[in-house]
Amino acid sequence: MGFKADLHTHTTHSDGWLSVESLLRRAILQQVDVLSITDHDTVSGFIEAEKVNTKYGLKLVPGIELSAQYIEFEVHVLGYYFDTNNKQITEYTETLKIDRLQRCNRIVDKLKAEGVDISLDEVKAECKGEIIGRPHIAKALIKKKIAKNFSHAFRSFLGNNAASYEKKYFISPTDAVKMIHDAGGIAVLAHPGNFDDNTLSIILQENFDAIEAIHPSHSTPQQQKLINICKEKGIPYSGGSDFHGGNATDRGYIGLYFLNKKEFSDIESLKKM
Ligand SMILES: [Zn+2]
Repeated sequence: MGFKADLHTHTTHSDGWLSVESLLRRAILQQVDVLSITDHDTVSGFIEAEKVNTKYGLKLVPGIELSAQYIEFEVHVLGYYFDTNNKQITEYTETLKIDRLQRCNRIVDKLKAEGVDISLDEVKAECKGEIIGRPHIAKALIKKKIAKNFSHAFRSFLGNNAASYEKKYFISPTDAVKMIHDAGGIAVLAHPGNFDDNTLSIILQENFDAIEAIHPSHSTPQQQKLINICKEKGIPYSGGSDFHGGNATDRGYIGLYFLNKKEFSDIESLKKM
């Protein structure tokens, strides 16, 4: 019997396209045994999954993906096996929810000023979860036929170089790792394949418990390099599909990127609570 642990997936609670229930069903179809929903900056996806899963019986790992920043680099920190009711995490995700809504509002205002016919209510209608962001503005632009598709929406209206761009508030990698540790969890550096060696070695000075080596954005040599780094550091490596649904081509399909039984038990053995 095969064994698959996919420790990196997203739902409509952040920027994924599938509801929690649809995601669980896909996971079962793909013969996933262990699943972690790691929505961006919210645990609400996992909390819903725990309820829905009573009829499916998958093994769920509590998860989150925190967005942090080191100079100009966005550093994603995955958290697992933490207390999802932890006060600091709950307060942080609440603050961020307000920040992201305000940011979205500012982007919509800028687009309107450029003559784009879009309203915050139209964007909100595209957001099924708690964290609103550019993917939802893109969906609204597509629905109104202002943009042809996602890439057109980002290229012409929403990209980091677009006139409407608004900075996001980010915490530091140190704070992200600390927040997860303080909540009793384990902190994993997400998909670091694209960092240059120097940046990677600086980021790895943080107290990570593991590194995500298996990820659709990593080439085989990149994956091997990260596995070797983990061996040198004496920490396990993690992995998952980073499945978002929809048709983004740079992300894996659920269950195609996973940890085997031994790899998963190495991660699971780090569990403190
Ligand atoms: Zn992700």
